[in-house]
Amino acid sequence: MVWELLLEKVLISLNFMKLVLNNIENIDFNEKYDHWIFDLDNTIYDFHLGLFRRVSLRMTEYIKGFFNLNDLDALTLQRNMYKKYGLTLRGLMIEKKINPEPFLEFVHDVDFSELNEDVTLKKLLGKIKGKKSIYTNATFKHAENILKSMGIFQEFEIIFDIKDANYIAKPDLNSYLMMKKKLSLNDKNISKSIFFEDTAKNLKPASELGMSTVWIENDFNRKEADSLREYINFTGSDIKSILSNMLEFQKR
Ligand SMILES: [Mg+2]
Repeated sequence: MVWELLLEKVLISLNFMKLVLNNIENIDFNEKYDHWIFDLDNTIYDFHLGLFRRVSLRMTEYIKGFFNLNDLDALTLQRNMYKKYGLTLRGLMIEKKINPEPFLEFVHDVDFSELNEDVTLKKLLGKIKGKKSIYTNATFKHAENILKSMGIFQEFEIIFDIKDANYIAKPDLNSYLMMKKKLSLNDKNISKSIFFEDTAKNLKPASELGMSTVWIENDFNRKEADSLREYINFTGSDIKSILSNMLEFQKR
C-alpha cells in the first residue's frame, strides 16, 4: 500500500516534469517541426462562431427528411451513429446504406457570411517554415469555403478530407494511416510533425504514431482531454494565441 502511494507520487512528479519540459517558450518550433497539420472545424476558426453547430443542425435536418423521422428520433439516430462510429455519416453508410455524396452536399451548405478574412492568422501561418496541411473529417469543398472566406486557403499545401480517408473518420487509426501516406509522413519524419485539434480523442492516435499534439482548449471535451493528458503535448485557448506563442520564439 505504501509502495503504491509512493509510486503514484513518483508518477505525478514525472508528469509534472513532462509539463515543464514542454514549456513552449524554450522550444524553437520552426526548427523542431517540418510538418504542421491542422484540423479544420473549431480549430482553424473559433468554436464560438457556432459554424459547426450549424452543420450539425443540417445533419439532423437531412436525417429527418431522408428517413421521415420527427426531430427527436432524427437527433437520437444522429447521436447514436456519431457515438458508435465517430462520424455520423460513417454510421449511416454502414447501418442505413446511405449515399455519402448528397448527405455531404446538404450538411455543408451553411452560411459562412460571418467568417471574415483573418489577417492575424494569415500572418502567423506565414511564419511557419514547414509544410502546412489540413486534416479534416469534413469535405474538401467545406474546407475550401472556410479557408477562402478567411483568406488563408493558399497557406495550405494539402487538404486531406473525408473522401481521401474513404469515409473513415478520425479517431479511427486507419484514417491516420491514409493521411500519413498522402502527406508523405513515414517513421523517419513523423516525429517532426505537429497536429492541432479541438477534439481531444483525435489526438491519441496521432500521438501514438509519433506526432506531437496540440489540444485547442474547449469546455465541450475538457473532461476527455484530462483523461488523455499523456497524449497531449501542448495546449492553448485558441489557434492564434498558440501559434503566436510558438512562433514568437527568440533564441536567447
Ligand atoms: Mg474539430
